[in-house]
Amino acid sequence: MKYIEIENIACLPGRKLEEEDTFSFHCHPGLACFNRCCRNLNLFLYPYDVIRLKNRLGITSGQFIDRYSDAVLRPSNFFPEVLLHMAENEGQTCPFLSESGCSVYADRPDTCRLFPVEQGIFYDAQTMKTRMISFFKPPDFCLGLHEKTIWTPKTWIQGQDAEEYHKMTLQWADLKERFQSDPWGKSGAEGPGAKMAFMAIYNIDEFREFVFKSSFLKRYKVASETLKKIRHNDVEILKFGFEWVKFYLWGIKSGYLRLR
Ligand code: SF4
Ligand code: SF4
Repeated sequence: MKYIEIENIACLPGRKLEEEDTFSFHCHPGLACFNRCCRNLNLFLYPYDVIRLKNRLGITSGQFIDRYSDAVLRPSNFFPEVLLHMAENEGQTCPFLSESGCSVYADRPDTCRLFPVEQGIFYDAQTMKTRMISFFKPPDFCLGLHEKTIWTPKTWIQGQDAEEYHKMTLQWADLKERFQSDPWGKSGAEGPGAKMAFMAIYNIDEFREFVFKSSFLKRYKVASETLKKIRHNDVEILKFGFEWVKFYLWGIKSGYLRLR
């Protein structure tokens, strides 16, 4: 998810798609380019992607982060980007790529679902609202764009079963935007506070342990209904983590928790 400056929209690569715009595309194993795009990628993983993938693989979020991701802190940001670690083979293929295609297809990341459509968020000063913008950006070698199936951005999201991803990515984008300014002060973007926030956002199994097994619940009052939900539900603990980070770093009040 990118944040786009409105004056830059016209010079961005790819074809901008308004709500009613259409594009034709179909990706299938019969194309000579099949699997060619699943390699040598900067594939961004969002927090909900990690939940889906770690559950698909039957491992914890901590194991997933260790085995499959790289965290990169850009100079202009104060929270790391999490990227899928490509296999260390000649083609630098995606670790989930198999002969027959994507081995985690039903749980593939948001970016893969939407590909070759990319989405960004921009603030429209005229309407004073934040809105999503889509670009159709197939790589040069993509043969799917010569196929006849017609989509709009909305039907593409529906067709890729990406609605839940979309919802969770927007919630993450809302929080992530706050990290464009420095919340860390002297402790820095790799200090203890930053590590806690990373845990709450990307390592939800460890965050759950932290909530239930440390002094967290002595310091924070959390409604019993919320506790029931977050104990076993990964999406609920992630949403709770987002709220806690906003409260912990910026003092933003939440219906989920308050200080005792
Ligand atoms: S997760 Fe699946 S769709 Fe995404 S790059 Fe890897 S193999 Fe391709
Ligand atoms: S290059 Fe295009 S058509 Fe070919 S596998 Fe990738 S997305 Fe599908």
